[in-house]
Amino acid sequence: MVHSPLAIDSKLATVGTTIFTVMSKLATECGALNLAQGFPDFQAEPELFDATLAAMRSGRNQYPPMTGVPELRAAIGEKVAALYGVYYDPEDEITVTAGATQALFTALAAFVRSGDEVIVFAPAYDSYVPAIETVGGRAVHAELVFPDYKPDWDAVRALVTPRTRMIIVNSPHNPTGSLLEVADLDALAELTRDTGIVVLSDEVYEHIVFDGAQHASVAAHAELATRSLVVSSFGKTYHITGWKIGYVVGPAALVGEFRKVHQFNVFTVNTPCQIGIAEYMRDASRHLRLAAFYEHKRDFFRNELRASRFDLLPCRGSYFQLARYSGISERPDVDFAQWLTREVGVAVIPVSAFYADARDDHVVRFCFAKQEATLAAAGEKLRRI
Ligand code: PMP
Ligand code: GLN
Repeated sequence: MVHSPLAIDSKLATVGTTIFTVMSKLATECGALNLAQGFPDFQAEPELFDATLAAMRSGRNQYPPMTGVPELRAAIGEKVAALYGVYYDPEDEITVTAGATQALFTALAAFVRSGDEVIVFAPAYDSYVPAIETVGGRAVHAELVFPDYKPDWDAVRALVTPRTRMIIVNSPHNPTGSLLEVADLDALAELTRDTGIVVLSDEVYEHIVFDGAQHASVAAHAELATRSLVVSSFGKTYHITGWKIGYVVGPAALVGEFRKVHQFNVFTVNTPCQIGIAEYMRDASRHLRLAAFYEHKRDFFRNELRASRFDLLPCRGSYFQLARYSGISERPDVDFAQWLTREVGVAVIPVSAFYADARDDHVVRFCFAKQEATLAAAGEKLRRI
């Protein structure tokens, strides 16, 4: 141990360890089924590994271009064009990142100056607010209105000031599974028109939308796309959260600013995995079938919980299912999540972790990106309480 005598004035004084790490650690310690942190407990397809290994063996192991390997940027451009009808130029409008988390952080660092305001919707994915604060910005919270978790655009409009630099949106939404509709994007376009506000759209679950819904990408919105950066993650799409590879697309003027920071942040992302993904994603069915794949898991898990005392909220996208537990316990959600992990053997995430003021509606989040055997084993335990 090395003791430091420094009196540290923390930039993130109220931030502890992320709830995902805390709950995964507790799940491991207790031997609980981990339906807390969002990652699949099944393998990606061998073709992805074969393509990556082939890239390594053929000598593609040195630094790739700062912006990402050309094959992968081209594949991303084609995918986005096919899905959303807009062509981003791989040369100056697409950058490969070390996961969505880095893309979001770098985007904030590129545009937010000290004292600038960034509007986020609560409940908000846990990295947004610490990232805003690290770069000297101030998070301003709009609300996704419980229990539908829809934005109230009049309320958002009232939060816009001359200091508003960015607005972060996330659809399909983590943790709630709600979706933004085209009408929401119209409202967002209207309130950011002629303002200089940059929209940062976190679309890591873009392929996981259910019941025939279409993902309303900001990229597909002709007006919004001109002032937006859109972020996605291969971790979610190809069952490889541990590879930490994602991307950002946007108009050249925005991506140019992004790259100025990106090059001194991570510089670039490991070469062989980028090539493996580029090769693998040539077959579009691999991302197009994701919605049906996860819809089946959602339905399976909801069915498992039907005879339980949990009250399931709607899940329109993502791989998260929210549930109210008021029929079981009056405990605060953090206590309830710990109790469920320790005593019942199923780890979950308390939704208060996604609120700056720790608002507690007695709701927990289950991740259903799991094998049916895992979901069935969890269902059995959860029906007993
Ligand atoms: N945004 C949201 C909404 C997420 O759920 C996650 C978790 N995957 C991320 C960003 C971060 O993605 P990555 O693992 O690619 O950094
Ligand atoms: N995105 C994942 C989730 O919501 C967790 C990622 C992480 O642990 N940082 O569970």
